[in-house]
Amino acid sequence: MSFAADIVTLFPELFPGPLGASVIGRGAAQGLWSLRLTQLRDFATDRHRSVDDTPAGGGAGMVLRPDVLAAAIDAVSPPGDPRPRLLMSPRGRPLTQARARELAAGPGAVIVCGRFEGVDERVIEARQLEEISIGDYVLAGGEVAAMALLEAVVRLIPGVLGGEESHADESFENGVLEYPQYTRPQLFEGREIPAVLTSGDHGKVEKWRRAESEKLTRARRPDLLK
Ligand code: SAH
Repeated sequence: MSFAADIVTLFPELFPGPLGASVIGRGAAQGLWSLRLTQLRDFATDRHRSVDDTPAGGGAGMVLRPDVLAAAIDAVSPPGDPRPRLLMSPRGRPLTQARARELAAGPGAVIVCGRFEGVDERVIEARQLEEISIGDYVLAGGEVAAMALLEAVVRLIPGVLGGEESHADESFENGVLEYPQYTRPQLFEGREIPAVLTSGDHGKVEKWRRAESEKLTRARRPDLLK
């Protein structure tokens, strides 16, 4: 069974973009995950193929119509589809490594990319869309957010990063940020690799890394330690 991602968007030509490169793209070529794109405009019903309209109550911008969006969602995700339906949204719950891990363990995801001022609230309710944010800032559309989410999820699918690599030490996996990493050359612009890392003493290396992780987390992300 492989992870099946469906994306509903007004800009399918933006994909796969970064999702076609490196290990993520290779994972798709190996059949570990798949990406299907759906053009929202194909589900418009009027002569002008309109997908948006002015906001009820007035105000700037345009809102994606619920009927057009619902038709697109129903076409890619018929009743009984076990995959979660996600809406990329700055109002959503912030994406976490834990949620990425849950999604990676599941059958896939249906991802709706918003545009303009957003989406009619009724389709969010009626299709039970889970709003997910990639951070406290506002993008012009959900496409880059969907790519960020999928990239975080797909690299966790077994086989995508290759057998020997482990996620155990990574940032957020233990509730802390990752320790500093070094590689050759031994001397770079007068800076040495910390001696403990070349000592061959695995216990000491372990202890140093744990201490550095904690120090970094305390300085940069004290919220993670709470
Ligand atoms: N008026 C909305 C923002 C609309 S931005 C508000 O204030 O909440 C247009 C679209 O970009 C959104 O529908 C969403 O799909 C996407 N988007 C913008 N910022 C995002 C973020 N931080 N995370 C996820 N998606 C985002």
